[in-house]
Order: sequence, then structure tokens, then C-alpha cells
Amino acid sequence: MTAIASPSIHNLIGGMWVTSTSPAGIELLNPATGEPLGNSPAGSAAEVDAAVQAAHAAFASWRTVPAADRVQYLFKLKSLLEVHLDELASLITIENGKTLAESKGELRRGIENVEVACGIPVLMQGYSLEDVAPGIDEIMVRQPLGVCAVITPFNFPLMIPLWFLPYAIATGNTVVLKPSDRVPFSAARLLELIQETGLPDGVVNLVNGGKAAVDALLDHPLIRAVSFVGSTPVARHVYARGSASGKRVQCQGGAKNHVVVLPDADQETTTKIIADSAFGCAGQRCLAVSVTVTVGEAKDWFRDAIASAASSLKVGNGLDPNTQMGPVITHASRERVVSLIGQGADQGAKTIVDGRRTNGNAGAGSFVGPTVLDGLPAQSPLMETEIFGPVLSVVHADTVDEAVAMIERSAYGNASSIFTSSGASARKFRTSVSTGNVGINIGVPAPMAYFPFSGWKGSFFGVMHAQGRDAVEFFTDKKVIVERWPKEWSRKF
Ligand code: NAD
Repeated sequence: MTAIASPSIHNLIGGMWVTSTSPAGIELLNPATGEPLGNSPAGSAAEVDAAVQAAHAAFASWRTVPAADRVQYLFKLKSLLEVHLDELASLITIENGKTLAESKGELRRGIENVEVACGIPVLMQGYSLEDVAPGIDEIMVRQPLGVCAVITPFNFPLMIPLWFLPYAIATGNTVVLKPSDRVPFSAARLLELIQETGLPDGVVNLVNGGKAAVDALLDHPLIRAVSFVGSTPVARHVYARGSASGKRVQCQGGAKNHVVVLPDADQETTTKIIADSAFGCAGQRCLAVSVTVTVGEAKDWFRDAIASAASSLKVGNGLDPNTQMGPVITHASRERVVSLIGQGADQGAKTIVDGRRTNGNAGAGSFVGPTVLDGLPAQSPLMETEIFGPVLSVVHADTVDEAVAMIERSAYGNASSIFTSSGASARKFRTSVSTGNVGINIGVPAPMAYFPFSGWKGSFFGVMHAQGRDAVEFFTDKKVIVERWPKEWSRKF
């Protein structure tokens, strides 16, 4: 049984749900069961144009709605998301495969962004100074940009749209959302709930599709800003093409995250947290740990401990409350991960836990079990490859400096963590490591909604990040007014 009401996938244009007339895109299967869910349309420039025109038409009046009134819709949305939490979590699990607990966790983080955006009447304020010269005052105000495009990946079907949407509309913009063509149902349900808030038609629009839809958004002259989250090659493309057509662009890309384990780390907690970080969401998190670097004697205990933790995880359908790890998103993704595990062995690693034969007790699902590769050589290509599956490499360094240097060499810079009981080691790590998000005894250092979701090097292209104050900066233009009102020009009363 699915919680998907209909296999049809519609676009939302100016408040109307319309059937896509674009060519068929990809066939969607429940990743845990292989059950068909529907077909994603490929998307077209004409459909994108219709959505952008609707958003553009809505902008003129939406931008004049007082900020305090705009956020009333978000208060309602927060309440609707809470009421529909279980239903939305099931939907995410059915189309993405993650466990119900993980789906609820993702929703929590999404709702947090709705809550923060409710503070826009304060967050959006500018500043002013009287008498910058005698009788002259200067004022900075923030104004919305216009139509903003939001393009999201498959791994967080609801949280990532909510990294951007609430801030974009609260600041007075209108939006065209293009969700991942691999998980279109959760976003459609989110937009139905947004409609239930009574938000004026056209303020938020939805257009489905893949590359054709993305490129049409990047080229559309009425789109002022693009928020993108996805893999690094596509992030580069979106950043280059969107910037070339004069848009403001923020692109969060892929990752290869390292965690450093020092000999003085608490063994039990460290192992548990790293296992969750590597294998949670079947490793399909941009903050998942991909490489553990043991320092000194940590090598002696960590390898066996993580092997035992990985082997004991229960893999299966995420709807089963006993499941600890679900499938990867598609059969193609499974084949890719399985092939990369093989390459790891070819490149010199020992496969101490091998998930290639795991079937999750459901023949047609796209399961691959937790896998641990030991001793992958530093120069092997897999050390630089984002696997995006439940595969952890364990490598060794003699010192913290050597571990930090390994991270420095990575082309990615999304996140890194250290596990230690030494404040001095932790401080040295956080001040020198070259990643945008850092965990100290934390395995998935996901920033709260009131902090920017950072990311450096090949993991981020742009200036302003998602969430919090960065989002307010991204979705607004600063206007500076310098004014003089000489007494002698005024009529005397
Ligand atoms: P993806 O790059 O394949 O797709 C992202 C979006 O781009 C989707 O909407 C997709 O339809 C579209 N797209 C795909 N190929 C395209 C192309 N050639 N041209 C134009 N648009 C295209 O990413 P994914 O597989 O959906 O998501 C997983 C990736 O996202 C991983 O690399 C992961 O690390 C990354 N991610 C990063 C963050 C972060 O905050 N840095 C967060 C989540 C996911």
C-alpha cells in the first residue's frame, strides 16, 4: 500500500494543478519494494515559462503585503506540517527509501526553517543613521528580488525545499520550485499544504522535470535568483549557466566527508555515532561520513568496533519500524555503489564488511548493505569519489596534522568531524580544517536553521549559504537611500 494518492505528477501554475505535456522522463519505483509509483515528466521550456510568468504576475502584489502578514501563511504552514507529519514521513519513506525515523527527522529540520522565517519582520530589517552629514540621513532597506527558482535533490525531498522556500516568500519574493525528478510526490504534497494556508495563487509554483526544466529556469530572463542543491558536476553547471545570464546563484554540491578519531575518544559513543553518520539514510546524506581517519592507537580499536556496528544493522523497508537502514534510491544507484565497492578492493582496500549481497529481505528493492573498506591507499581514485551509499573507508594517520592534511587535499569541503576528549586537539582541528561545517564529537554536523548551512571548495559555489541570516541576504537586494529635507523648502505650518 502506498500513501501516494495518484501516480500522476502535476505542475502547479498560478494556483492551478495542470498535467505536464512534456515528454516522459524517468520511471519511478518504490526503492524498497520495486513497486511502480509513476513516471516523472522530462519537463519543458514552455512549462517553465508558464510557471515563471505566473510567479512574475503574483510578485507585483505579493511584495507589497506587509512582512508581518506574509509570515502568517508560514505560521499556518508550520501547523499543517505538524498535523501531517506522519503522512508526510510515510510519503518520503515510500519514494526515497529512508526509514520513517529519518523521514521524521528530516521534516523536523524543514519545519525549523519555517519557524525561523516567521521572524522575517525582524530579520529583514535594514539600518539607518541620521546626520551622516548635517541634515542628511542614510537608510538601508532590504527589498525582494522577484521570481526565485529552487532546484532540489532526491535525498531530502522535503527538508531541502524548506531550506529556501519559507525565506524566499517571507521576504516578498515568488518562487518556482523544481524538485528532484526522482522524488516528485513529497514536494507536490508540500505545495498542496501551502495552498491550504490560503497563500495567494502564483506565489509558489511547481514545475516537474529534469535537465530540460533546469536549463529553462537558468536561461529565463524573469528569474532573478537560483538556489540549487545537488551533485558537484550539476552544481558547477547551474552556477556557471545561471551566473552567465545575470542571476544571483547559490549552489550546494557534493561531498566526501572525513571524521578523525583520536586515541582518547570515547570508544563506544564514537563508534555508535560514526556508524549512524556513515550508514544513516543509506549513506545518502551530504553530511554522511565517508572516510574515517584513525590517529595513533585509535587504529587498534576502531576497525573492529565499526565492523561489528556495521554488521549488526538491520536493513529493510523503511516503513518497518525495526528497520535501521533502508535501500538506496534506485537500482542504477545500487549498481553504481556495488561497482565502487569492487573498485575499492581493486585499488588496495580490504572489504572487512561487504554489503554487496544484502537484499533487505525484499527481492525487488535496491538494497546494498553497510560496507567497510579498510586501508584504501591515499592516492586511490576512490578516496576522492563521492560514493553516496553506505560505504565507509577506514584509513590511518600518525598525527592530527597528517589527518588534517588529508582533508585539505580533498576537492570537497562540506563537513568534517573529530572525536576526542582533548579540548586542545579539538580546537586545533576546528581552527585549521578546510570544511565549512565542523563537528566536535558530532557525526553529522548539520547546522540548525538559524545558522548557515555552510560548505566550502567543491561543495559550494556562491557567497550566501542556505538558512538563517544568509537566506535573508540571498533573497533580498539592499537599497540605500540618502536624503535631505532642507527646512527652507518646507511650507511653514
Ligand atoms: P543531482 O545533481 O543529480 O540532481 C539535483 C537536481 O538537479 C535535481 O533537481 C535534478 O533533476 C537536476 N539535474 C540532474 N542532472 C542535471 C543536469 N545534467 N543538468 C541540470 N539539472 C540536472 O543530485 P541528486 O543525485 O539528486 O542528489 C545527490 C547529490 O546532492 C549528492 O552529490 C549530495 O552530496 C548532494 N547534496 C548536497 C547537499 C549540500 O548541502 N551540499 C545536500 C543534499 C545533497
